[in-house]
Amino acid sequence: MDIVFASHNAHKRAEVEGIMAAIWPEVRLIAPSGEAPDETGDTFQENALIKARAGHAASGVATIADDSGICVDALGGEPGVRSARYSPSGDDGDNLELLLRNLGDSQERRAHFVCAVAFVADGEEHVLERSWHGSIATAPAGSGGFGYDPIFIPEGESVTAAELAPDEKSAISHRGQAFRALADFLRVWRGE
Ligand code: IMP
Repeated sequence: MDIVFASHNAHKRAEVEGIMAAIWPEVRLIAPSGEAPDETGDTFQENALIKARAGHAASGVATIADDSGICVDALGGEPGVRSARYSPSGDDGDNLELLLRNLGDSQERRAHFVCAVAFVADGEEHVLERSWHGSIATAPAGSGGFGYDPIFIPEGESVTAAELAPDEKSAISHRGQAFRALADFLRVWRGE
């Protein structure tokens, strides 16, 4: 089965391809055609739906898309849906440096990642969301993953997400949880 994965983020594509290959190897994720739409939603679920609807409209093929980000308790849930464009440059390193600066030496460092996944096909729209809880480190560590991984210490771990192997991260991450739940939904939808 071919499904469009409507993401232009190479790191995300690699993670999702790894997750889906492990749980549902018959599904081939194909690249989106057309431009990425503006993420104008106020929630992760709205933005995931915007991307999946655009991918489906451009291709006519069943499409999945995700929207994700990190929410920091002491920053009132920021950067949230603005995670990718938190700093003026939008560069991963600049984003995490700004987050560390804004958090300062606060003792309250709880945070969670969110991943919303939307599936859009003819006459069908489905969206779900999963979270990954942890805390913000005082300095970056590790070279794996992407985005805020070097400053996110998952609950129950003593290292950052960037120090986990890719399959260790996907086994517990917001994205791993969300795509496994989506695969369960799609299997039922396809009558498997
Ligand atoms: P979007 O979902 O493409 O709008 O952007 C998500 C942004 O949130 C990424 O650019 C990262 O900055 C951040 N993010 C989402 N998931 C992760 C993750 O698994 N690790 C680190 N950063 C993430």
